[in-house]
Amino acid sequence: MYSKIGSYIRELYKSQDFIPLSAPVFTGNEKKYLEECIDSTFVSSVGKFVDRFEEMVAEYTGAKKAVVCVNGTNALHLAMMLAGVERNDEVITQALTFVATCNAISYIGAHPIFIDVDKDTMGLSPTAVDHWMNTNAALHGDECFNKSTGHRIRCCVPMHIFGHPVHLDELMEICNKWHLELVEDAAESLGSFYKGKHTGTFGRIGIISFNGNKTITTGGGGMLLFNDEKLAIRAKHLTTQAKRPHKWEFYHDEVGYNYRMPNINAALGCAQMENLEQFVLNKRETASSYAAFFKEIEEIEFFAEPAGCRSNYWLNALIMKDKKTRDSFLQYTNNNGIMTRPIWELMNRLPMFRNCQTDGLKNTEWFADRVVNIPSSVNIHLLYENQIK
Ligand SMILES: *Cc1c(COP(=O)(O)O)cnc(C)c1O
Repeated sequence: MYSKIGSYIRELYKSQDFIPLSAPVFTGNEKKYLEECIDSTFVSSVGKFVDRFEEMVAEYTGAKKAVVCVNGTNALHLAMMLAGVERNDEVITQALTFVATCNAISYIGAHPIFIDVDKDTMGLSPTAVDHWMNTNAALHGDECFNKSTGHRIRCCVPMHIFGHPVHLDELMEICNKWHLELVEDAAESLGSFYKGKHTGTFGRIGIISFNGNKTITTGGGGMLLFNDEKLAIRAKHLTTQAKRPHKWEFYHDEVGYNYRMPNINAALGCAQMENLEQFVLNKRETASSYAAFFKEIEEIEFFAEPAGCRSNYWLNALIMKDKKTRDSFLQYTNNNGIMTRPIWELMNRLPMFRNCQTDGLKNTEWFADRVVNIPSSVNIHLLYENQIK
């Protein structure tokens, strides 16, 4: 059965070579814009591509403002600061995520609380959050506290795993009820929409990543999305060493950061943005091929987008029968030049987050044993065929 799956993936990508999980493709104006950038000498943090890239992402996502960063992790760090998270605060999030989500919380000296995920989204479960909050939290005026630790719970950070949106309406309602700031980790979900609205734009702050393996890339890069112009201005200020704009004077009015994306990376980003919609459609075509193929294989379930959503299918995921089958599948594919991988080690099992509170994480642990990601790159053959059509 595994060899049948392997052949199918090779046929899909029309390749007998090593097949990566998620490789970037540069089929547009990337070289042209990079050349323009070098010719202009504006390769660093100031330049027209920086502004253009921010405008393109804001327009595509429907965010009021977008502020570019060096990577998704420092975009998350800033998001935590802008959400008002302070030392010893607590932040509701999921254990089924990439470590950057929790590292950003830790940079502030705050602590994650790990709540379970839903079976249909693989992301933070509103039902589980509601249950945990009702048992463990109390409101004092406008602030929410953890009854057992006495610490303030400030913020809720869902992550749209592999591009599949979480149940945002329900989660927003819970955040409003408990006065929690909703910050979406939309690092993986550029091109994913929940009920017609782009992920990362539901709270006041959301973030995207443009790392090399994401749906589009700037080499390394990230973006903050805002519905609130004032927050965007403050974000820009913090990313530029908190320097007051002036032609020649250097005055900084608080501790700032050098989190600006260089123009040369933004040039790549502009070219990639021009093709984003095409990439997403291409990835969705691959996902529907996989879905049809795995429908015929009883022991393996293809993880499909949640109802009411359009997922970018950043990484396609299979749910294997159990851990043993998962491991033998991983072994077969990786030994045969087809890159597959299990889901990240759960955050609550890492040494630095071992003592964080959890709600038992029933579905989270179920997924942790069974999920495998399979090759999901934009399929270049399909891209060219569609361009010729
Ligand atoms: C990729 C990613 C990030 C940000 O990563 P960078 O490599 O710093 O851009 C954050 N959260 C999640 C869930 C991610 O997958």
